[in-house]
Amino acid sequence: MQRSPTWLFFLLALLLLLAPGPAGRFVLDLLGGITFILVLLPLLLGAAGFAAWQVIQRRMRTCESCGFVSIEKDFCPACGSAFDVSVAAEPNEQFDVSNVTIDVQVVNENDPST
Ligand SMILES: [Zn+2]
Repeated sequence: MQRSPTWLFFLLALLLLLAPGPAGRFVLDLLGGITFILVLLPLLLGAAGFAAWQVIQRRMRTCESCGFVSIEKDFCPACGSAFDVSVAAEPNEQFDVSNVTIDVQVVNENDPST
């Protein structure tokens, strides 16, 4: 006896769409939002893919011996020669704010002895 509720929802949506007022407006807004997301999603995915590619490209190294490009850090997977370490050094010596101690001297301006 149980029928698929999909139709009922469709009918309800149609009713809401046809009916004037805030409900129909809401459904139209919803459809507009869904369309917007469907249009925007590929763009967002494209942007994310581009960012990931940038990160990968930054880690890529070109072998000086054979020209093989890989994301290996130490050795070339193609010919086995060691990469130049000085170039591979990551910028770890950046100024680390969490390690900085700030000395604050408390000076009492109302102290009569000074
Ligand atoms: Zn190589």
